[in-house]
Amino acid sequence: MEVIQSFTIDHTHLKPGIYVSREDKGFTTFDLRITEPNREPAVAAAAMHSLEHLMATWFRNSEAKDDVVYVGPMGCLTGMYVIMLGGYTVEQMRQLTMRCLQWVLEQAEVPATTPETCGNCLLHDLPMCQWEARRYLGRLRDDFHSEYTKLRVVLDDGRVFADA
Ligand SMILES: [Zn+2]
Repeated sequence: MEVIQSFTIDHTHLKPGIYVSREDKGFTTFDLRITEPNREPAVAAAAMHSLEHLMATWFRNSEAKDDVVYVGPMGCLTGMYVIMLGGYTVEQMRQLTMRCLQWVLEQAEVPATTPETCGNCLLHDLPMCQWEARRYLGRLRDDFHSEYTKLRVVLDDGRVFADA
């Protein structure tokens, strides 16, 4: 088994921000890093679930909607993935995300939280979702980071896995 690319990112120096983790097959994968991994509490599952519903709704209704392939949370609950069709820049994604988060702050309810529309409809927390959105918005505006530090990973057979 090969070490997959996201495990070669040095998570010990990672700041909240927006990072490009992949550009391949015509798609751009953005890592929206909301918290500092292992140094701050991760986003609570219910807040992240609500943020997923809200962010996916906004992105799929935005002017970029035709290019939105996927919006969904990282398993570590420290950020969100947004996959776009085509070559979007980090700055474009930053502007989209800031407008999205501003919209999240203005919402009075989470969309699609019935048993028919959601796989875990009780796992939602709009107040904490908006607390996270407010803090992340401030970070994107005032303390923006977008450069990953790569780890040098040596595979079992001696090959160096520096990038993919
Ligand atoms: Zn859901």
